[in-house]
Amino acid sequence: MSGAAPLLKDVFGFDGFRPGQEEIVEAVIAGENVLAIMPTGGGKSLCFQLPALMRDGVTVVISPLIALMRDQVRSLQEVGVGAGALTSGNTPEETDAVWEGLEAGTLKLLYMAPERLAAGSVIGMLKRVGVRMIAVDEAHCVSQWGHDFRPDYLRIGELRRTLGVPLAAFTATADAETQLEIVEKLFDGTPPRAFLRGFDRPNIHLAFAAKNSPRTQILNFAAARRGQSGIVYCGTRAKTEGIARALNEAGQTAIHYHGGMEAEDRRIAERRFQQEDGLIVAATVAFGMGVDKPDIRWVAHADLPKSIESYYQEIGRAGRDGEPAETLTLFGPEDIRLRRTQIDEGLAPPERRSADHARLNALLGLAEALECRRKTLLGYFDESEVTCGHCDLCDTPVDTFDGTTAVRKALSAMLRTEEWFGAGHLIDILLGNETDKVKQRGHQSLPTYGVGKEYSKYEWQAVFRQMMGRDLVRPDPTRHGALRMTDAALPILRDEAKITLRRDSIKAAGSAARRPA
Ligand code: ADP
Ligand code: ZN
Repeated sequence: MSGAAPLLKDVFGFDGFRPGQEEIVEAVIAGENVLAIMPTGGGKSLCFQLPALMRDGVTVVISPLIALMRDQVRSLQEVGVGAGALTSGNTPEETDAVWEGLEAGTLKLLYMAPERLAAGSVIGMLKRVGVRMIAVDEAHCVSQWGHDFRPDYLRIGELRRTLGVPLAAFTATADAETQLEIVEKLFDGTPPRAFLRGFDRPNIHLAFAAKNSPRTQILNFAAARRGQSGIVYCGTRAKTEGIARALNEAGQTAIHYHGGMEAEDRRIAERRFQQEDGLIVAATVAFGMGVDKPDIRWVAHADLPKSIESYYQEIGRAGRDGEPAETLTLFGPEDIRLRRTQIDEGLAPPERRSADHARLNALLGLAEALECRRKTLLGYFDESEVTCGHCDLCDTPVDTFDGTTAVRKALSAMLRTEEWFGAGHLIDILLGNETDKVKQRGHQSLPTYGVGKEYSKYEWQAVFRQMMGRDLVRPDPTRHGALRMTDAALPILRDEAKITLRRDSIKAAGSAARRPA
């Protein structure tokens, strides 16, 4: 390691390595194939830039983020490192200059957009100019089922085979599924040396809340953080505009951002967010990859993210400077219904769908967690040594109760009505509400009619939401979203297992939220 330390200081100006960096740097310098999974802000770039300087020949860096590539090339050039980029944003002169530098042997790092690999001659040319290592940033883009999929990433495997050089892949997306896909597509199935660690972001406070009056909940959260930069992730494009408007009306400065905007407008929004202090962006998930603002103080989700992976990535944009940052994720039965339907009605093959349901379940487990969120979250990434004290459940432990009887009553109401109804009607049956629908269907004569009067409507809503969250029941898209029991509910139905539920705060939060902001 003796050679790397002086470069660390002289070229990059750092006094030491961050956790995890040194071992990765060593392995990459040694020419091993490497898969490194590091949280956003963990310092991935150094892990290929430093080895690139230590090794013979040129290192190709594949990245989907043109703006980030340009920034990195500029910073490297400023400290005297030969670096260039081949992207669609280049002028012909710039491209010529890069190839001249490669021919002349003055470049150590060549950044490339993956699309560039599509041109037939490029791989041969890279071989000729002496490319000796490949680094792949945002390696999860090779995953066909992830939302960042880039078809051109599939060409990287061919590049590696043709050049016959080591490859180091980097990503902040950690789950086992994605890792397997990366190994298969980038390394032809031969497992590289893997570095997975350091997923905890202790400065980020984690919190979830049942969604009751979402706009007010978001406005209140933002109002308590007035003057700080934040992101509100929204499930739809329309909602980004509505929330940005509401924030502005409340006297904050907010803009919206989504994939339906003109490219130029998106660029303006990104630039404003990057440069202005205290600006709020209400955005869809289109906003984020490539956002490199260290002092984002908070991230709120107006709607539930699509999986535990997406949740981790999105909240991870807060507090990259290491200073305290806050998050809040709202969720409710409608979110669960929507996310399930998106999976069921998507184009993915069946085995993929069940993996997506499992990732959603992991997020719902986090949303309905009974103790420390951080332990639950990092447990998903196989990190077990976690100290927290910095999440809503550590701040205020939840009140729980034995929900076995309640769940059995709810399941019974579902089964007696042949799984043709949603929670609203089932709750009317449980409470013995004589609604028109109850009368029309003759449901007042069911044995379950009126057996749930010990709980309020709100409490029953919380029970059903938790049943959905635990995947005991699922909305069936072929039955207009009617709830159907899953096999996971059988042990409870048969009285072979007990279930602990959160005594929910939905009622209290609901009445508080109706007060004017
Ligand atoms: P990411 O892992 O998200 O790609 P970057 O490589 O952009 O992260 O690094 C995040 C920030 O951390 C950058 O500002 C970088 O300069 C800084 N950084 C990286 N390594 C070190 C280090 N060893 N010491 C101090 N700062 C570092
Ligand atoms: Zn905690």
